[in-house]
Amino acid sequence: MSGIHGKVIAITGASSGIGEATAQHLAAHGARLVLGARRADRLSAVVDGIGARGGVADGVLVDVTRRADLRRLVDTALERHGRLDVLVSNAGTMAVSPFDELRQDDWDAMVATHVTGLLNGIAAALPVFRRQGSGQFVNVGSTAAHVVTSPQGVYAATKTAVKVLTEGLRQEAGPDLRVTLISPGFTHTEGVGKGAGPEIAAALTRRRDEIAMPPSAVASAIGYAIEQPPGVDVGEITIRPTAQA
Ligand code: NDP
Repeated sequence: MSGIHGKVIAITGASSGIGEATAQHLAAHGARLVLGARRADRLSAVVDGIGARGGVADGVLVDVTRRADLRRLVDTALERHGRLDVLVSNAGTMAVSPFDELRQDDWDAMVATHVTGLLNGIAAALPVFRRQGSGQFVNVGSTAAHVVTSPQGVYAATKTAVKVLTEGLRQEAGPDLRVTLISPGFTHTEGVGKGAGPEIAAALTRRRDEIAMPPSAVASAIGYAIEQPPGVDVGEITIRPTAQA
């Protein structure tokens, strides 16, 4: 199946930012969506908004750090639509801090969300894709995996893991599956600086407001990777604001 129309696409972290913009973009192009996140109110608002515009979307409460939640996301796609064509693993947390602050809970959350969360998605969707003989993983990494900037050491390490896992998966995917890494730079979302200390959060949101690109830019890049014909695998798209070093 080429294009976006009719594809069954699950997205994690769809309650705000890049995930929400991706859901809007794909819904506008006729995808059938299953959207996952933890905040029920924000997720419902996205699902209802898509439905009100004539799109097809279901919401599932998902914490990507839990294996069973990812299985439920995938199972919902199968129950509602009989298949899953794409899993967009986008859920993330950017509570960055200098090492000296020893914010170990934040470090753990980044590892659990970006690394374990991604693996939980792979484990839930890969058997379905193998059975179908088709499917696409779209994993959201970051330009932080290319250029490490203080105080993003832990964040950059987990996003480097996303990059490496994506390439490893691509090599094992075989001729029927597609595996794509989307590496965004500074994007204007509420997640920038969220959970960071006050000074770092203020600096990040100031910089975001000066240079960040809209999340719709990342959404179209994801759409481009999905709309390619079955034999064409977009391996990686790096997309950043021109003002980003
Ligand atoms: P947002 O904070 O707006 O979005 C993050 C999303 O992830 C939310 O929907 C949040 O929903 C969800 N999420 C977080 N933790 C979990 C979890 N454990 N289980 C399920 N969902 C979770 O920020 P962005 O849109 O900016 O971030 C999206 C992705 O893009 C992240 O992976 C981020 O690292 C990446 N990225 C962002 C950049 C930027 O500059 N904004 C640059 C490069 C990459 P909820 O809280 O409801 O669960």
